[in-house]
Amino acid sequence: MKADQVEYFSELTSESVRSAVEGRTLIWAIGGVEQHGPHLPLNVDTVIPEAFVKALASDCGGIVLPLQPLSVRSLPQSGGGLQFPGTLFVDGCTFVDYLADALKSLSPLPFRKLVIINGHYENEGFIFEALDRVRCTGILGERSVLAFSWWSMVSDGWVAEHLHDFPGWHAEHAGITETSLMMYLRPELVKPSRPDHEHPPRCGVYQLPLSPDASTKGVLSKTSGSSAQIGELLFEHVREEIRSLALEGT
Ligand SMILES: [Zn+2]
Repeated sequence: MKADQVEYFSELTSESVRSAVEGRTLIWAIGGVEQHGPHLPLNVDTVIPEAFVKALASDCGGIVLPLQPLSVRSLPQSGGGLQFPGTLFVDGCTFVDYLADALKSLSPLPFRKLVIINGHYENEGFIFEALDRVRCTGILGERSVLAFSWWSMVSDGWVAEHLHDFPGWHAEHAGITETSLMMYLRPELVKPSRPDHEHPPRCGVYQLPLSPDASTKGVLSKTSGSSAQIGELLFEHVREEIRSLALEGT
C-alpha cells in the first residue's frame, strides 16, 4: 500500500467522534463504477481517488470518510457512455441532493477542514454545486473546503515531460494515465491486451447520433506506453501536489 497507517471515520465510536475530529481534516474520496475498456476493472474511478485519500491522510494526518462509490452518468465523449454494461450511475440532481444531505449531516461535528478527491470525470461540476449549495446555507461556518479531481493536480510540465500526444483529461478515460496508475496500484486487475483509440473525442461536445468511432472498446485514447513506472511517477507527483495544496494556509 502507498500509505501508512490511516484513521477511518467509521471506525470511531459515537462517544469519541466529536473529540477525535475536533480541529482535524476530514478527507473524502468520491468515485464511480464505470466501464474502462476490456483491460481495466469497473472500479478504476474509485481505486485511484481512494489511494490519494489514504496517501493524504498518511501525509497530513487527516481522517478518512467512508468512500462514496457511485457517480453521475458516463458520457460518450468522456467515459464511453452507457451502452457498455456495468456502468452504474444516478442522475445529476439526485447526486447533488445526496452529497448536500451527507455534507449537512457532517456539519455539526467540529472538524476544521474538508478535502474531497474525485475520480470520475463527469462528477466534478455536481460536487462543486453540492458544496456551494451547502455553503450558501451557512452551516459550514469558517471551515475550509478543498475539492478537486485528481487530474487537476497534474502540472502542465509533468504532462509535457511524460506524455506524448496528450489528448486532454476528458479523453484519458481508460487511457495511459488511468491504465498506468492501475498497473502501479492494482496490477492484478489490469489485463495485458490493451487497445489504442487513434482518434480521441473533442472536449466539451455532446453529439448525436454518436459516431461509431467515438470509442474503441470503451477506450478514448491511447494505452500504448502504459506502465507501472509511469503510474508510480504520476502517483507521487499528484501526491506531492495534493499535499502542498492541502497544507496551504495551515
Ligand atoms: Zn476513469
